[in-house]
Amino acid sequence: MLVAVPTEVAEGEKRVAAVPETVGRLAAAGLSVCVQAGAGERAAFYDPAYADKGASIEPDAGRLLGSADAVLKVAPPTAAEVAKLRPGAALIGLLNPVGDPDGIRALAARGVTAFALELLPRISRAQNMDALSSQAMVAGYRSVLMAAERLPKFFPMSMTAAGTVPPAKVLVLGAGVAGLQAIATARRLGAVVSAYDVRAAAKEEVSSLGATFVELPLEAQDGTGGYAREQSEAFLREQRELIGRHVAAADVVITTAAIPGRPAPVLVTEAMVAGMRPGSVIVDLAAESGGNCELSRPGEDVVSGGVVVAGARNVASSMPTHASALYARNVANLLLLLVRDGAFAPDFDDEVVAGSCVTRDGAVVHPVVRGRT
Ligand code: NAD
Repeated sequence: MLVAVPTEVAEGEKRVAAVPETVGRLAAAGLSVCVQAGAGERAAFYDPAYADKGASIEPDAGRLLGSADAVLKVAPPTAAEVAKLRPGAALIGLLNPVGDPDGIRALAARGVTAFALELLPRISRAQNMDALSSQAMVAGYRSVLMAAERLPKFFPMSMTAAGTVPPAKVLVLGAGVAGLQAIATARRLGAVVSAYDVRAAAKEEVSSLGATFVELPLEAQDGTGGYAREQSEAFLREQRELIGRHVAAADVVITTAAIPGRPAPVLVTEAMVAGMRPGSVIVDLAAESGGNCELSRPGEDVVSGGVVVAGARNVASSMPTHASALYARNVANLLLLLVRDGAFAPDFDDEVVAGSCVTRDGAVVHPVVRGRT
């Protein structure tokens, strides 16, 4: 079975779906791995390191994709890449199944058996394949560095001969995987951190990291699978009113609130930004799915009344070495689940396999996606 690792072609994408360590694991499982020349370079993984672990190196993307039994990707394949895939080939990646139904339809039409990591069931057994978590962890860490770079103040308290500098006040809205990592990182930098989430379990998790949980007199909004459920506009209006004074008091607000498959809820309005001190910073990790802040634009800094609103865009890719290393392990773990005795043999009775499979036998098979294509 030939496993291909192409160079990512999406704009700004620096990650790669296999690293030398995971190539070694796949080779040990009897798979032949072929890496496109330079595929790992932007993540600081060079061709000789892959070759050392048993990979062959192929300069030509067309030949690589056309000969592969399985293709490992980060971003969804472009139409040109799909056209090069061999009918019957397997594909694993972050395929944006809900946001890009046309792309999924194209994979089905090509006869590709595609697994979208976004759809992976979030059960304990699948945790080592959970790319949403591994990449959210990277994004949470980076969001604090983004804020620190933009904040014209120190994070830690400093007592100097020139006087005392108070610590920065950081408010994290949404304390899931990214939010908890942001809390831990901001604490390590010396900020005073508080956080809010609509899930009941979040309070204990926030407190265990040494941050203050912001108590709001609102009903918990727990959904299924550890996620929040989509909130009504009335709930969000009340939440914004209650959280307003906490936002106004913060030097930094990091927003990470998402509802899977739905636009992100607006937590910070333009009026709330106007109520913040000049020099304050908002980092909106949900900017790509509509934004938690009304003013945010993905990949841009919007300055309003002296407040910087940094809209995140593919943040995990800005720390590509570790983002790739973690992602590649997620991908390798899923691929090895699909392989028996060196051959592609997915067990569709396995909920992890069935739950992540989005196209198969020429059709879109995942119920969540089928409803949208
Ligand atoms: P996510 O990225 O979908 O959302 C981020 C956070 O935003 C969540 O904590 C959510 O509750 C919160 N949120 C949504 N609307 C909000 C609002 N209006 N105000 C404030 N916060 C709001 O979620 P995620 O971080 O990927 O995962 C959330 C939780 O899922 C985790 O903390 C964990 O409990 C669970 N989880 C379980 C597994 C597993 O068992 N394998 C894996 C990953 C996550």
